[in-house]
Amino acid sequence: MLNIVLFGPPGAGKGTQSAKLIEKYGLAHLSTGDIFRANIKGNTELGKLAKSYMDAGNLVPDEVTIQILESEVNKNPNATGFIFDGFPRTTPQAEALHTFLKERNTTIHQMLALNVAQEELVKRLLLRGEQSDRPDDKDESIISNRIQVYNDQTAVVADFYSAQEKFSSINGVGNVDEIFARLCQVIDSLSSNA
Ligand code: AMP
Repeated sequence: MLNIVLFGPPGAGKGTQSAKLIEKYGLAHLSTGDIFRANIKGNTELGKLAKSYMDAGNLVPDEVTIQILESEVNKNPNATGFIFDGFPRTTPQAEALHTFLKERNTTIHQMLALNVAQEELVKRLLLRGEQSDRPDDKDESIISNRIQVYNDQTAVVADFYSAQEKFSSINGVGNVDEIFARLCQVIDSLSSNA
């Protein structure tokens, strides 16, 4: 089992790098943002609830998010590991994930945090907004709020993994392949120590 939390502010490149990591390491990809967007598209009750928070750039409440994450993990009983992308975003989410994985005799092996300066994040998100239909990427005030929410509520989650010596900061600036190589270097050093 190899369970990785891919961490970082909105626009850090978590989705792009997750796609490459799952291919290389054969892991299952769990993005709470993607799950919420699929529910919005499907017009489910969860989608309607999530949309009201996402459109403003705020976090969906923990109890809803934790439940949805756990049910997605349970849908992949044969996975050899997971990339958690965009989860956990609060300390209660990190604690819930820890307990949930422990009950399944596994754990998070490492948090890999993509480090990108704030001006670069805003630039990347506005560009993504032009190229996609994500409403939360189109408006600069919503983008600012998401970064603020990250700084206020999410950045602290790094401490949870640091305290367990499971935290690596990765330079998230450069081309996609360079950043991928930096992530792989850390992951490969984990498996060679295992
Ligand atoms: P993302 O695709 O990871 O950028 O997430 C888009 C939006 O979905 C966020 O701005 C939040 O509104 C919501 N969201 C995604 N993951 C979480 C989470 N772990 N906790 C709370 N809200 C989340």
